[in-house]
Amino acid sequence: MNENSTAPRQPERPLQILAPSRQELSDTRGRPLRDLRISVTDRCNFRCTYCMPKEVFGKDFQFLERTQLLSFGEIHRLVRIFRDHGVEKIRITGGEPLVRRKLERLIEMLAYWDDLDLTLTTNGSLLKQKARDLRNAGLRRITVSLDSLDDPVFRAMNDVDFPVEMVLEGIDAAAAAGFGPIKVNMVVKRGVNEHSVVPMARYFKDRGHILRFIEFMDVGATNGWKMEHVVPSRELVQTISRELPIEPLDPNYRGEVAERWRYKDGTGEVGFISSVTHAFCRDCTRARLSAEGQLYTCLFATQGTDFKALLRGGGSDDEVSQLVSKVWMARSDRYSEIRTAETAKQRKVEMSYIGG
Ligand code: SAM
Repeated sequence: MNENSTAPRQPERPLQILAPSRQELSDTRGRPLRDLRISVTDRCNFRCTYCMPKEVFGKDFQFLERTQLLSFGEIHRLVRIFRDHGVEKIRITGGEPLVRRKLERLIEMLAYWDDLDLTLTTNGSLLKQKARDLRNAGLRRITVSLDSLDDPVFRAMNDVDFPVEMVLEGIDAAAAAGFGPIKVNMVVKRGVNEHSVVPMARYFKDRGHILRFIEFMDVGATNGWKMEHVVPSRELVQTISRELPIEPLDPNYRGEVAERWRYKDGTGEVGFISSVTHAFCRDCTRARLSAEGQLYTCLFATQGTDFKALLRGGGSDDEVSQLVSKVWMARSDRYSEIRTAETAKQRKVEMSYIGG
């Protein structure tokens, strides 16, 4: 605030005295820990061909048992400790987070911290029923994944014959419950749903939601990723611009995943998440917690660190805190910057397990 400002002075926040293990952390590349993505289940009611292909995640697939999942109390405790290390944003994800029973209860517990940026990513299939409860529980923001408005294409991509209309109803229910702006994530895969790009842009532009295009990534080890399947964001910018002119915007904050563009007619914005063609490792401040309490420091990781054993073995807050510090301070990941056809073949952890 400038000296002559007439705005009332905010009381200064008391300086937080942190124990040595309770401090803001920096990894080996100077990146702070700011975001934590929490997977609350490894199960999903969709079988998106690029994420949980049926041939792998079929009837015989061994999902986690209930007792293996972190309880809401355990998640709450971890969030409290992660906050002490600088985490400001929590994204609840999965699998499909809305298939976890009584998820609203967890939201309510986390919404207690009103300075926490709390958000959730869903496939939208259960949103029509749950949007109001999530909002009432204190959820502030929501992202819905949707890959096409073309019903046969969408049904084929989710591979459980789920209709587009029900996801759109879910998005409407979320808007009616007071979420906004709603973000919609579309994974674009060459030869599969490119033709849906402009119709999706037009549809969500008219409704004031922010559509973000995600480059198809080589996450996990089961989606048969090839570079030829990736539609680079710069190509999408051109495709959209030809019909709906757009121009670049400044990022909201350092490390923002999506590059922001706005429609020149002033009707809103779109985003591009270019993990493949324009890696953003340099600014990556995210950690991911699997549903059973393994902590990963990269979406493309092959190994995590077990927190559940420590929690259930009677570990103190200080011990948990020290493990967070140890893991983050040793972090050197920058997978997307060094990706090659060879690294893409590594047995990376699945996105449905680690959380999207
Ligand atoms: N079930 C929730 C959902 O659908 O949003 C949350 C989990 S899902 C794994 C999170 C996001 O990851 C979705 O937007 C999904 O499309 C995206 N995703 C999954 N596999 C991907 C891949 N190989 N490349 C890019 N995005 C992917």
